[in-house]
Amino acid sequence: MPIDWIAIQRRWLERWEEARIFESDPSKDKGKGKYFITVAYPYPNSPQHIGHGRTYTLADVHARYMRMQGYNVLFPMGFHYTGTPILAMARRISENDKELIDTFINVYNVRPEYIRTFTEPISIARYFHSEISQGMKEMGYSIDWRREFTTIDPVYKKFITWQFNRLRRKGLIHQGSHPVGYCPKDMSPVSQHDTLGDVEPEFMEYTLIKFLMDGYVLPAATLRPETIFGVTNLWVNPDEEYAVAIVNDEQWIVSKLCISKLIHLNKRVEVKGYIKGSELVGKYALTPMVERSVRILAASFVDPGNGTGIVMSVPAHAPYDYQALHELKENCKYDGIEPIVIIRSDDYRDTIPAYEVIKKYGISSQSDKRLEKATEELYAHEFYTGIMLANTMEYANISVKEARDRVKRDLILKGMGDTMLELTNKVKCRCGAECIVKILNDQWFINYSDTAWKGLAYRCLDRMSVIPDEIRDEFKYVISWLKERACARRSGLGTTLPWDREWIIESLSDSVIYMAYYIIAKYVNAGVIDDSDIDDDLFDYILLGIGSSDTLSLKYGIDKGTLEDIRREFLYYYPVDSRHSGRDLVPNHLTFFIFNHVALFPEELWPREIVVNGSVLMEGKKMSKSLGNIIPLRKAIAEHGSDAIRASLLISAEILQDADFTLDMLKSIKDRVERLYNACIHFSSIRSSGNDGIKEMEDRWLLARLNTLISDTTYAMDRLRVREALNNVLYIMEQDVQWYMKRARSKGRRDEDIAPVVKTFLDARVRMLAPFMPFISEEMWSILYDGKKGFVSDAEWPKVDTGMIDPYAHESEALIRSTLDDIMNIIKVTGIKPRSIAIITAGEWKWSIYRLILGFVTRGVTNHSNIIREIINIDSRVKSNINMVKRMIESILSETPAARSRRLNIGTIDESSILDDAKGLLEEELQSTIAINSEDDDIINMKRYTKNKDALPYKPAIYIE
Ligand SMILES: [Zn+2]
Repeated sequence: MPIDWIAIQRRWLERWEEARIFESDPSKDKGKGKYFITVAYPYPNSPQHIGHGRTYTLADVHARYMRMQGYNVLFPMGFHYTGTPILAMARRISENDKELIDTFINVYNVRPEYIRTFTEPISIARYFHSEISQGMKEMGYSIDWRREFTTIDPVYKKFITWQFNRLRRKGLIHQGSHPVGYCPKDMSPVSQHDTLGDVEPEFMEYTLIKFLMDGYVLPAATLRPETIFGVTNLWVNPDEEYAVAIVNDEQWIVSKLCISKLIHLNKRVEVKGYIKGSELVGKYALTPMVERSVRILAASFVDPGNGTGIVMSVPAHAPYDYQALHELKENCKYDGIEPIVIIRSDDYRDTIPAYEVIKKYGISSQSDKRLEKATEELYAHEFYTGIMLANTMEYANISVKEARDRVKRDLILKGMGDTMLELTNKVKCRCGAECIVKILNDQWFINYSDTAWKGLAYRCLDRMSVIPDEIRDEFKYVISWLKERACARRSGLGTTLPWDREWIIESLSDSVIYMAYYIIAKYVNAGVIDDSDIDDDLFDYILLGIGSSDTLSLKYGIDKGTLEDIRREFLYYYPVDSRHSGRDLVPNHLTFFIFNHVALFPEELWPREIVVNGSVLMEGKKMSKSLGNIIPLRKAIAEHGSDAIRASLLISAEILQDADFTLDMLKSIKDRVERLYNACIHFSSIRSSGNDGIKEMEDRWLLARLNTLISDTTYAMDRLRVREALNNVLYIMEQDVQWYMKRARSKGRRDEDIAPVVKTFLDARVRMLAPFMPFISEEMWSILYDGKKGFVSDAEWPKVDTGMIDPYAHESEALIRSTLDDIMNIIKVTGIKPRSIAIITAGEWKWSIYRLILGFVTRGVTNHSNIIREIINIDSRVKSNINMVKRMIESILSETPAARSRRLNIGTIDESSILDDAKGLLEEELQSTIAINSEDDDIINMKRYTKNKDALPYKPAIYIE
């Protein structure tokens, strides 16, 4: 029977809502404690698409799994209205922006009458808020919706006010001048939320080296000031315009694009005129400190948007420079410039390092992309192992690391150098403008560079679980480089700074401790706490236990007992047990989340876990508007149903890899589940023959497999290896039950006989599928138990019954399967149409040798001759069967250690009777008569099988006629 996915989804959504099974309160504790899981709340400026579904689905699977493990799980959701993107969107709508309106209509299916209201930022937020929360419900997320809020709710704003007052009192917020990533067009600082492709701007301090030319300064920006001694020439781009400008009382020549950057870095700049780069080519400039005159040459690789557009050339240590110079020479221009080696490092002794590394990569052109890699490699190598040579004046014999700082400092002290902050990654604002670095004056900053604070953040990270753990170092790195961060803007939705009402707290600063607010939101939504004049003291009490419930009860008119309940509820759910988010939030949100928790809360309330997942590809491609492959989540749900989407998002990749969403996969999952669904219908209608059904070897085997799979799947789920877990439930369990049915039916067993075993298997399989595909699992659960066993969402995760794990049954079925495979292979290779097949199993003496070898190998003796020497003494027949013994050793060594010790424990298995049990199956599958004998059987019958020596334990000899 085909499944009506949508009808089933609708039915169970309704029942869950009626029964309110995902509402969590401390009173619902089952004795195992709470589990508080949160995921980064969405920003409602567009509907969610399939890509968004991954993070939320993973968090929901985690929540559902922990619920089935008996925890009182709280999984809430809020909505992040704060910030400028919604404002910018409203502005574009009122300017009648065709592209945006087109996206709304054609990609997001928004009706035109709604779009008309989108000139109001709040209408955009409300519209997509409802769209997203509707989608989350349809996806089956097990959210406690009583705790929903938005970041512009009045009480939430009071909560953020409390957070900022506290941070300020701890000295972690100050006003000052600091650099930030900045959009010159919007005249606003930018962070990840404001940029195309959600890139966090990162910047570094470059050294400007002032080359002199006829009274003009040509400042070259570099990260390697110590290489000044190796400068042989300067590069300019002949086709670009350069500006002549007075910069802080000097006459500078820099690229036109550099001028606005200098202004934003607070330099006094007055442009006097412009010249073409080509006009500079051929002139000479004086290298400061070294006092060497060098020629200005033309190079197309000079990007006028990078640094100052003036590049100093150090061909001995910079692969780009070496290659460019080499090409000029080949074209017979400018002969006579030779690289000057000034650094000696481990790998490059008496040679030109840049030449060596270019040779190593086989690079032959300036435009070769591998130059980037060659450069990175050489820079890093010289930084860590390089020593300055004798031709570097007073810096001779000191390390590159040290020389870099000293040369920079000395240049600046002598007025021959300066610094310039520059983005190290190309970042574009959502408005399309190229971002730059700006030094903001009188801005409010959170001081993430505070060392004591960093220390606490490291400590929190050390005690925290990070899934996957390979991400931990990324967090360490972010904590180490984080500096002052602008925390307020002049415009946008959000909370005003409590002490300076001109400013609005920005979106990556008001979203770091809101997990605590989910406790409070329940009481706000129930009308217990209202927005009239709440001060910090209420939050001090609820979140930190400061103050008395008596006083606050009088002040706010909230019942004293209720206040104490709220405080108790906070202490019950806090800390956060697991925080889920996409990998792109590691360098900002997730790290700020750590920082703010350690600043505001005592150690026992610090977060316990962070889970980070990768992104989603669509049919192998990145999702993008230009490719037209962005599918809104609700549209996909209406088409395919949520269950299959959930499973498809999780089955293609483990957590950190990119998942690939494909329709083929979706269809294959649906087919698989349809078979499971039909098995539930079929077997639930069968009255069993009245015992527990475990009679035959295949019964023992299936139940053993079941318990092994429960154990493996639980292990995987505990580590959130969801791909592996889902693969077990959907695919491996399907294979096992198919084999079981084949075995049982070939022996003539009726469904009545096998129903008890099959039902046990189905019961566990449906439970383990429930976190992934909750709707169809509820349906199957209710079919299996005629609706009498409640919700599978509330059911217990299956437990391993170790008594059922049965190594003998495991080996027996494996023997049958491998024998069948071997015969099929022989038939395939030889092309024989078999009339009769004989299987000869190994005799008892071979088994005794086999057990001996197993014993040696398990004790660590794996050398062939050592083993043979030992067993010859025990059994003299070994002498005349050396080759057979060698084969035995080989086959044992090819097994896993677990398989070896299992076989050692079992001893001998009765292969003939095991294969005899499957005779019907083998005959059916192979369309041939089968004879099964042991080598130990009457020798007369065996004569014609001349090769019976081939039979080994677990590997019978096979004869096909
Ligand atoms: Zn912009």
